[in-house]
Amino acid sequence: MFESLSVNEGFRNQIETAFNKGRLSHALIFEGASEEIRLNAAIELSKAILCKEKLKPCGICSSCNKVENLGHPDLHLIKKPADSTMIKVDTVREIRNKALLFPNEGSKSIFIINEAQLMNPSAQNALLKIFEEPQSHVVFILTCPSKSSLLDTVISRATSYSLGEESTKDNSERAQKAKEKANELLLSFIKENELSFMKKTADLQKDKQLLLEVLKQMSPIVRDCVVFQSGSKETVSDYPETAKKLSLALTAKKGIMLFETVSHLIDSAEKSANHNLTLTRLSSKFYDIKTQ
Ligand SMILES: [Zn+2]
Repeated sequence: MFESLSVNEGFRNQIETAFNKGRLSHALIFEGASEEIRLNAAIELSKAILCKEKLKPCGICSSCNKVENLGHPDLHLIKKPADSTMIKVDTVREIRNKALLFPNEGSKSIFIINEAQLMNPSAQNALLKIFEEPQSHVVFILTCPSKSSLLDTVISRATSYSLGEESTKDNSERAQKAKEKANELLLSFIKENELSFMKKTADLQKDKQLLLEVLKQMSPIVRDCVVFQSGSKETVSDYPETAKKLSLALTAKKGIMLFETVSHLIDSAEKSANHNLTLTRLSSKFYDIKTQ
């Protein structure tokens, strides 16, 4: 579990032990690391809880796939509404109604409350009421930067796990790695065939976050390509030479198509949609544009 996530060993061991011994609490708090890592860790644990195979999570059964695509009927992801700054009591009341129902396909209903610190106090108090009448088929996973931002009464009724500090050194190393990978892939796209390109994406297979970061680093380079094609020289990326080569290899129309494709891929990677599908699309969409 959690192989593809940069979480600390202690967290991994604690969760795996509790899970394997069937001692997982019905209310868990995941704190620390980054929002993305916390959410991915919650999704990964949900996969393990709902997986139908022996070695959980198998990552390939229909249940694991549905969780990965956030389409499992027993997985409920609660986020702050876009038009509000808080998760309010109405949302928690809806959760309560859903928690009373038995799961559809799995043995548990899982509620991930993403960035639970955004629940206002009355929402947290409503949640407490659900905690006080625990249903054996319900698991709550609350993610937050620090549990200290939650009410003490909520913390005392849940089991907290720390995913570790968000290391700035690791972050800058990763950012550099993502930058270089983005440049490497675009150079391969210019010079090589689809198979060679795909081989270069192999290290992104196991690392969801790296794929997203690489796509985000590609965006300014491809933008610069479009800039060159429009006759301007006002570049923003760290790899203007690659952008120049790209601008000469593609027509202006294809340059724009490539830019749009990268934006769409970032979107699907951010929504935590099917990781392998996003990766496959990266090659196929790119080379569709090239060979059009
Ligand atoms: Zn599975």
